Amino acid sequence: MSDSIWIDIAEKIKALAPEKELLPLHEPTFTGNELNYVTDCIKTGWVSSVGKYVDEFEKMLAEFTGVKRAVAVVNGTAALHIALKIAGVQPNDEVLIPSLTFVATGNAVTYCGAIPHFVDISRSTLGLDPFKLEDYLRDITEFKNNQCVNKNTGRIIRAVVPMHTFGHPVDIDPLLDVCKKYNIVIVEDAAESLGSYYKGIHTGNFGKVSAMSFNGNKIITTGGGGAILTNDEKLADYAKHLTTTAKVPHRWRYEHDDIGYNYRMPNLNAALGCAQLENLNNFIENKRNQVANYNTIIKDYQGINLFQEPSFAKSNYWLQTFIIDQSIYSLDIVIQTLNSTGVISRPIWTPLHKLKPFETSPKGDLMITNELEHQVVNIPSSPYLGEHIR
Ligand SMILES: *Cc1c(COP(=O)(O)O)cnc(C)c1O
Repeated sequence: MSDSIWIDIAEKIKALAPEKELLPLHEPTFTGNELNYVTDCIKTGWVSSVGKYVDEFEKMLAEFTGVKRAVAVVNGTAALHIALKIAGVQPNDEVLIPSLTFVATGNAVTYCGAIPHFVDISRSTLGLDPFKLEDYLRDITEFKNNQCVNKNTGRIIRAVVPMHTFGHPVDIDPLLDVCKKYNIVIVEDAAESLGSYYKGIHTGNFGKVSAMSFNGNKIITTGGGGAILTNDEKLADYAKHLTTTAKVPHRWRYEHDDIGYNYRMPNLNAALGCAQLENLNNFIENKRNQVANYNTIIKDYQGINLFQEPSFAKSNYWLQTFIIDQSIYSLDIVIQTLNSTGVISRPIWTPLHKLKPFETSPKGDLMITNELEHQVVNIPSSPYLGEHIR
């Protein structure tokens, strides 16, 4: 019975873009100056590690988000790595992260020599639950030399990484309160939330440092790419320095005053990014229109909800999300049925605490995480699906 329902739903989804045989989860849209700017790089020879588009892209990002500075890098994972490092994360620290996130969040913590410590999320945001976090910290931590220390492991809990799942902002205000109380630094994983606002302020403004991604499936793409965002000028300069091999500026001498990283974004990718940013507001509008389209499709079925932005947020709706009732539908069958009809759909990530590299990481109670793992279905979300409200 539930099979035929999902075949019906797939047909209705396909009717949102009748010209397409297959609806990918999220495909890039190149309808602006992409070809012009990339061609300009090739014609002028400025394709690589320096060039005007990198500077321009950083400026445009800062302007759009309202964050003082943006530093463009090769991908979102590299952005997170450096964001954590310059926020002060040191080897053997613990960093609180949601277990329901892309693996890059956990990997970046590990690149710093630190240990991810998994905490639960909230049903209303799909991101870190600041109230549950506070209760947990009260139980398991103590202060030593003004540092919040995990009583069970003896390690300093240095930072927390709120991740704005599918573009929906975490409830930041109470998180800021908790972090102030426990002297924990915030590093935002804003990889999915370009164009998303918390109480009118763009995500990426709340952390000491934040990270974004412009991978091929994100709301804008540079092919591959990321950015480090911060309102602290000194940290921005440091981020730029570390991601460009820590070279001391000189016309010809190779002098490096730190172990740096070759993480800079090539000019070619930044050129693509500039063109994409020019269209970002358009993408967001289309993606917000999809909410009406998908709600119309599911309104006659029981036990299927479209995830809506939290009341305090304006979301970019990067990936549209069904939350299904497990007592009516089986996640595997739903995903299999949708995919077999050309409506590419995915479950949420396997929670990180269940992955082999993080088996021994500390964790709190993860009840909501473990429930949502079996209830989330991401459905096609490319901007064109909201071009017309059906
Ligand atoms: C995409 C993503 C990243 C990493 O970005 P890449 O550019 O693919 O390295 C990190 N965190 C989250 C939550 C993401 O969705």
